[in-house]
Amino acid sequence: MSTLRVVLTDQLSHSITSLEGMDIENDVVLMCEVMDEATYVKHHQKKIAFLFSAMRHFAEELCVKGINVRYIKLDYANNTGSLVGEIKRAVADLKPKKVIITEPGEYRLLQMMKSCDNLQGIPIEILSDTRFLATHKEFAAWAKDKKQLRMEFFYREMRKKYRILIESNGSPTGGEWNYDKENRKPPKAGMLSPKRISHKKSVITKDVLQLVRDKFSHHFGTLEPFHFAITREQALMELEHFINELLPNFGDYQDAMVAGEPYLYHSLISSYLNAGLLLPLEICKKAEAAYRSGKAPLNATEGFIRQILGWREYIRGIYWHFMPEYGERNGLSATTPLPEFYWSAKTKMFCMAEAIGHTRDHAYSHHIQRLMITGNFALLAGLDVKAVQKWYLEVYADAYEWVEMPNTLGMALFGDGGVVASKPYAASGKYIHRMSNYCKKCFYDPDIMIGEKACPFNALYWDFLVRHEQLFRGNQRMPYIYSTWDKFGIEKQNAIRAQAVLSLQKMAGGEL
Ligand SMILES: Cc1cc2nc3c(=O)[nH]c(=O)nc-3n(C[C@H](O)[C@H](O)[C@H](O)COP(=O)(O)OP(=O)(O)OC[C@H]3O[C@@H](n4cnc5c(N)ncnc54)[C@H](O)[C@@H]3O)c2cc1C
Ligand code: SF4
Repeated sequence: MSTLRVVLTDQLSHSITSLEGMDIENDVVLMCEVMDEATYVKHHQKKIAFLFSAMRHFAEELCVKGINVRYIKLDYANNTGSLVGEIKRAVADLKPKKVIITEPGEYRLLQMMKSCDNLQGIPIEILSDTRFLATHKEFAAWAKDKKQLRMEFFYREMRKKYRILIESNGSPTGGEWNYDKENRKPPKAGMLSPKRISHKKSVITKDVLQLVRDKFSHHFGTLEPFHFAITREQALMELEHFINELLPNFGDYQDAMVAGEPYLYHSLISSYLNAGLLLPLEICKKAEAAYRSGKAPLNATEGFIRQILGWREYIRGIYWHFMPEYGERNGLSATTPLPEFYWSAKTKMFCMAEAIGHTRDHAYSHHIQRLMITGNFALLAGLDVKAVQKWYLEVYADAYEWVEMPNTLGMALFGDGGVVASKPYAASGKYIHRMSNYCKKCFYDPDIMIGEKACPFNALYWDFLVRHEQLFRGNQRMPYIYSTWDKFGIEKQNAIRAQAVLSLQKMAGGEL
């Protein structure tokens, strides 16, 4: 045989570099479900089911093209349980001249592949992942000599590079680069999530669901109902549905939160995009086409494209630029143990119960729930950054370290020392009250600071700012906040700090 081509779980794209130049007669594609990867953190049951089913469907598509696929199922008797073990076993069995793989998305896996020796003298060639829109080199060149690595400026470069929402004279469409200020509307009264597509389960998916029931029922989350797209065709249906039906309202309600409504106008495409069923540029082009044909307003289209062309690529750039040292950062020395309610959703804080409940049921919550509810609470309470990162990696179907880590450590926890965020995304109950209808259903009251009914976010917010005063008082974007604190006077300040201590004690005792 000629070449062994390894395709990883999140590389389910027919255009992936490891499949380029295939010799159909002689090459073999290796795909494997391995216990090590399914359990190095205990991934949500829905995530495992989605990925195994998507892998099996992808392997079938390759077979239909006439490609030889060596597909190792999780319960295959000789499965070694590890990626390296399976590559070695395939090399021993098939005796290829070389092994090719597209670079893994995670640093951990890249190191594993680089140190994959003992392949009977056969080299592993690691190709770059051209599905991303900025190369590591480009990001490094952009970052070089910059004091601050702000997403906004990186994003503008990406808009110019791909000529997305750019006019023929080179100016941004509509005259502005960013329409975020129009995208912060609170929910309308009675607002519901529009209906979503549900995909019929194939025999493969049914088999995989049984496998997950048998092997992973102790992992976090509910397995069923299971509505995920598992092929590119289905993922494209999701994308079309979003562009045609939901994009027009995406911008306006991007930050809104409604009780019992996990999705609102969000696209739900991150799992498909991160696994390779969708490609970032095709998504941006479809969104732009919707705007150009008058189907979606500019604030929504630009806001959506910014998430993919801007945030997603920037976040990946940050990860690879600063790893492995980035993963060891804990800029605010946050070490408080993660409270049990992050797993059980049992807390009197309605917003937290809601965001964690959505996460448990759907392996999904939208960006503002991740950032301003579960992330904000973790920031204010000083929760251990490693434990919080592990939680985010375990509980979401779209979670991979390259995207989870800078979002959690950098954006939500300000734990990277201000690389991703110029100021902490810290907010009191006031913000949550403004952007959601959660507080109406809560035991606590967002307008109260002290006492049994006081919203825990309020005192914790001030306590956080005081704990880190040295770091933040001089921040150009925060002086008015500290001047409000100063005006409280010593008695109120002491009462607020005592209330924060009480909230943390209650949290530790499972009573918050
Ligand atoms: C603490 C925290 C952890 C996160 N962990 C992950 C993660 O593990 N995996 C992940 O894909 N996203 C993560 N995000 C980013 C974002 O919350 C999700 O991409 C988004 O909620 C996915 O839902 P959606 O597809 O409906 O997105 P939409 O709101 O419809 O946005 C469209 C797309 O833009 C991209 N996007 C938007 N924001 C970001 C961002 N900040 N970083 C990277 N891509 C972005 C995603 O691909 C998303 O599908 C995290 C955010 C926070 C605050
Ligand atoms: S009152 Fe506070 S704890 Fe309750 S839902 Fe509102 S913000 Fe959350």
